[in-house]
Amino acid sequence: MTATELGLPAVRGAAPRDPARPADPRLVDSFGRVATDLRISLTDRCNLRCSYCMPAEGLDWMPRAEQLTDDELIRLITIAVRDLGVHELRFTGGEPLLRRGLEHLIAAAAALEPRPDISLTTNGIGLARRAEALAAAGVNRLNVSMDTLRPDRFATITRRDRLADVLDGLAAARAAGLDPIKINTVLLRNVNDDEAVPLLRFALEHGYELRFIEQMPLDAQHGWERSEMVTAGEVMERLREGFTLTPDPAERGGAPAERWLVDGGPARVGVIASVTRPFCGACDRTRLTADGQIRSCLFARTETDLRALLRGGAADAEIAETWRHAMWGKLAGHGIDDPDFLQPDRPMSAIGG
Ligand code: SAM
Ligand code: SF4
Repeated sequence: MTATELGLPAVRGAAPRDPARPADPRLVDSFGRVATDLRISLTDRCNLRCSYCMPAEGLDWMPRAEQLTDDELIRLITIAVRDLGVHELRFTGGEPLLRRGLEHLIAAAAALEPRPDISLTTNGIGLARRAEALAAAGVNRLNVSMDTLRPDRFATITRRDRLADVLDGLAAARAAGLDPIKINTVLLRNVNDDEAVPLLRFALEHGYELRFIEQMPLDAQHGWERSEMVTAGEVMERLREGFTLTPDPAERGGAPAERWLVDGGPARVGVIASVTRPFCGACDRTRLTADGQIRSCLFARTETDLRALLRGGAADAEIAETWRHAMWGKLAGHGIDDPDFLQPDRPMSAIGG
């Protein structure tokens, strides 16, 4: 099987060492940004098949031997927090609840000094019976993806009839005291784009914070069409049919979501306009894939192989320095609008969203 069939990039290895990089221990890049938020993909596997993410038949999952072990993952997370100034960790995938020992990984991350902020992005399947243990292990914040309130549509979008499990998971997360709980929604034209108002009503009633994400060209089947995408502008138009929205005066920082106060607040809604209003200039993210590759951006076309260093016996200092150089070369923006834009070979489910 070739790398292309597996969706793995052709360009991997270690970023060249640029002598112009300053001697800063943090993950600085040449545009002055500092990455402090580490997104960790725990697996590329998933139990749903969201149409905007992967094909109905799934993908050729990464062989287990290629995935980082728990010990390898904990070592990299420790280097990130202790040596590189990372203070936020988000576990994602694929579906992170499918990773055996997730609670153990979270507890290990929560024991680090300084204690990082820990969050999880999940599709919510199986969350009902895990929420309490996840909260006890140290999850601070939770994002649950849910695109519709209608079981038939849920089955169409995800190709699985599991909406009830997601709703149960949300309720269990609330009962376990997790706060805030955010809901991530992707609107698809003529599928669920009439649900912006009902979804926000649902979120307000239950005390969840809803965020709409523009669909990005990161699906494994390369089916994204800009003209088909529901834009942030359209989402706002739809929302204004049911609510008054005013800009949230709170500082946005590196947060991807533009936030709006709903009917004067304090409730808020977020819109992540990755395509139409990119926020690359304020990006503070660094990404680690389940097979130990550093990506400086969701849309990066190159990766830096930390697994080879780990398995080759490199010292922590060498791994940290390689990570620094990987981030130094981060590009200014994702370039979706550039005429020569190329979708990354690795799909969202194997990068970690
Ligand atoms: N499986 C988990 C989930 O669905 O929450 C975590 C991984 S998933 C890749 C993370 C987030 O990415 C989800 O909120 C999902 O809706 C979003 N996502 C997946 N493919 C996307 C795409 N092509 N464009 C925009 N968002 C996407
Ligand atoms: Fe799975 Fe999340 Fe992709 Fe849906 S968006 S197929 S839940 S990884």
